[in-house]
Amino acid sequence: MNGQTILVTGGTGYIGSHACVELLTAGYQVVVVDNLSNSKVEPLRRLEQITGKTLQFYEADIRDKKALTEIFDREPIGAVMHFAGLKAVGESCRQPLSYYHNNVYGTMVLAEAMAEANVKQLVFSSSATVYGESTSVQYVEDFPLGAINPYGRSKLMIEEILRDLSAADAINGAQSPWKIALLRYFNPIGAHESGLIGEDPNGIPNNLMPYVSQVAIGKLAQLSVFGDDYPTRDGTGVRDYIHVVDLVKGHIKALEALQGEKFKSGGCKAYNLGTGRGYSVLDIIKTFEAVTGRKVNYKIGPRRAGDLPEYFANAELAYKELGWKAEKNLDDMVADTWNWQCKNPQGYV
Ligand code: NAD
Ligand code: UDP
Repeated sequence: MNGQTILVTGGTGYIGSHACVELLTAGYQVVVVDNLSNSKVEPLRRLEQITGKTLQFYEADIRDKKALTEIFDREPIGAVMHFAGLKAVGESCRQPLSYYHNNVYGTMVLAEAMAEANVKQLVFSSSATVYGESTSVQYVEDFPLGAINPYGRSKLMIEEILRDLSAADAINGAQSPWKIALLRYFNPIGAHESGLIGEDPNGIPNNLMPYVSQVAIGKLAQLSVFGDDYPTRDGTGVRDYIHVVDLVKGHIKALEALQGEKFKSGGCKAYNLGTGRGYSVLDIIKTFEAVTGRKVNYKIGPRRAGDLPEYFANAELAYKELGWKAEKNLDDMVADTWNWQCKNPQGYV
């Protein structure tokens, strides 16, 4: 609803900052809460520059119930987009408690504060990692779930907690029931076309796209392609890369749907946000070289533990029920990544 105030947790992060741009542009008021554990405040200044609008920022941890309650008391929040959380798979295997505490417990505290403030519309950042072993590489929302690492399990646990919350409202005949969209992201890449905001990973990137672009700009010497003996068309891993701006547009559509006829009596529903198309690691390298004119120095290395050969989204449900589909292609994703990288070779520093 235009003019409504949206609380964005994790709003200084990569995806959250792009969501703030879309929300402000669409006429929403925005309140950001972030503990800056993996981000800086600079993106807020820049997104205000992009939109010509201002937002309210609270530096706080979502596990701090008192701080959240104060925010809900002070601001006329109508709905929440919940991005805050830790997201590195490898780190989650080394520090599982930290992931469960931040992601699962943090979401529980947020949900408690929301329920107490009677704010029960929530758009949640889930992930394609919640899908279990499957016979098809094109994931559909009703496929069996089952994550294989603590990060993925934290997302799956949150999904289940949120489903339980919604089911409890149905049992209790709640007057204003929970309305929840679980958005399962595939592989978000790219940046806002202005090049003012983008992904600013700490240290050496874990993910393919920031790694490739740091090799292309000369910050890193060489990309290691994690395996070329997978049962895929060129032997390298295949993923569904989605432009971050398309992704956050999906959040606005989900928010609108929560406020529409479909969720009138409440509910909790999962939607894939992907393009429906898979690209291999070698496709990414080739496209990067073609679009930027830079050489990407790479070698074929061993497989990375825990990687699946191939998966991509079936994104039909989001189209049917949210009226959303990804519009940008791989060339756009690469061009915007490169624009951000060239304008900000040291990130937000
Ligand atoms: P990010 O790290 O850039 O943003 C997350 C933000 O949350 C950061 O600004 C961080 O400081 C903040 N944060 C973390 N714990 C917090 C806490 N306890 N209290 C307050 N703030 C906290 O990550 P991102 O890529 O923007 O991801 C956003 C969300 O999307 C995450 O929940 C992530 O798991 C999910 N997701 C991301 C991807 C991806 O590839 N980037 C894929 C699937 C799902
Ligand atoms: N990958 C790679 N080298 C890297 C990082 C990633 O070959 O330095 C591959 C990885 O094996 C996977 C794809 O790139 O097939 C995407 O990996 P990423 O970590 O970006 O996302 P994930 O699929 O793990 O969510």
